[in-house]
Amino acid sequence: MTRVFKFGGALMKDAEGIEKVASIIKQYQHDQLVVVVSAIGKTTNALEELVRFKLGDDYANIEKTFIQIRRTHFELAESVFGNASHEIYDKLNAMFTDLNNELKKEFNDRFFAYDQIVSFGERLSSLILNSYLNENGFPIRTMNAASLIVTNENYTAAKVDWESTDKAIKTKLLTALEKNEIVLTQGFTGADQFGNNTTLGREGSDFSAAIIANILDADEVTIWKNVPGLMNADPHRFNDTIKLNKISYHEAIELAFYGASVIHPKTIQPVQQKNIPLFVRSFNDPESAPSVISDDTSEDDQFQKIIVKDDQVLLSIGSRDLAFIAEENLTRIFEAFSKQKIHVNLMQHSAVSFSVCFNEDGAKLQALVKELREEFQLKYNSGLQLITIRFYDDEIINKLTEGKKVFLEQKSRTTVQLLVR
Ligand code: ASP
Ligand code: MG
Repeated sequence: MTRVFKFGGALMKDAEGIEKVASIIKQYQHDQLVVVVSAIGKTTNALEELVRFKLGDDYANIEKTFIQIRRTHFELAESVFGNASHEIYDKLNAMFTDLNNELKKEFNDRFFAYDQIVSFGERLSSLILNSYLNENGFPIRTMNAASLIVTNENYTAAKVDWESTDKAIKTKLLTALEKNEIVLTQGFTGADQFGNNTTLGREGSDFSAAIIANILDADEVTIWKNVPGLMNADPHRFNDTIKLNKISYHEAIELAFYGASVIHPKTIQPVQQKNIPLFVRSFNDPESAPSVISDDTSEDDQFQKIIVKDDQVLLSIGSRDLAFIAEENLTRIFEAFSKQKIHVNLMQHSAVSFSVCFNEDGAKLQALVKELREEFQLKYNSGLQLITIRFYDDEIINKLTEGKKVFLEQKSRTTVQLLVR
């Protein structure tokens, strides 16, 4: 039996969480087990801030943020290992020295800078978990994702080089599993052919687990979460949510595509290709039934599912002379989006304008506007919310848009998307 487990960083934020991760691993330690972790708590967000300050030469904030990230990890280590001298502190210090050195470098590619800095989050969390498991007698072997997941050089959204990754995983990781070692590795990250760190896109740790499972032909992937399983809507926003016991790969891809944060969009394909079931299980109640994602479509249309994305921008692009926006303009517009690596969530074409909705990201928006401003007339609304409903009816649309202004609406047979404020 080969299993790939992914533990999110929210689960490992204190000593109790780390102990619980260990107790789950213990239950399955006699199987071939790969453990993928992401960065602790909000570390990735803090590292993103650090990149922003670094690129803006904002030294005061670089220092402040660095200290804060360092403190979070030392506090976690202290809660796990106590105050006495312990090898973990030297190891953490060494890693923070590396991060500090990284921050002193000159970068001329902001995407490259991002990957070199943000990838520290997963290295730090795996370092702490490795020490704990090691100390508690687990046959743990930590392998750097940079030596397993080989990607291209599309920094911040690197594409997996499947052939090289296959080779790396089969020669290194599989060998360790065959020696009955439990392999621990970092999610979300990899390296290009030159050994530079790369990242796979935010929330990409699930994807890492799926890549490894695909190559190992694993029997299952389990994503441990601090929610009971896959829910039909975010329980933090809605109070009558229900747990989905099973959904198909196809439905999961749809949900992820529309932004369901519980699952990374790229995660499904690698497991679907090998028909590997994906379990979403409750970390707090490990014995409860998981949500199962498999080829079983029987319950897909049984429940309405709602996905809400905040902080959306709607950019309306018109031509300067009020002419139609036609194919040749669209090519230009899409080129600009692709260059700024902006993912389009929704778009609509009318006679004199082309409207595009995407996640608000100040730096990217600025760069985009700068690029399009000369050729086009731009108008934008920000602070919008994008609501997607699978298997909608009028009742739910009315309920969710009550008292709100609808900026854009798009319907297909099974899905409606509403951009509101
Ligand atoms: N730590 C990364 C992020 O927050 C990857 C992940 O959590 O899956 O985006
Ligand atoms: Mg994370």
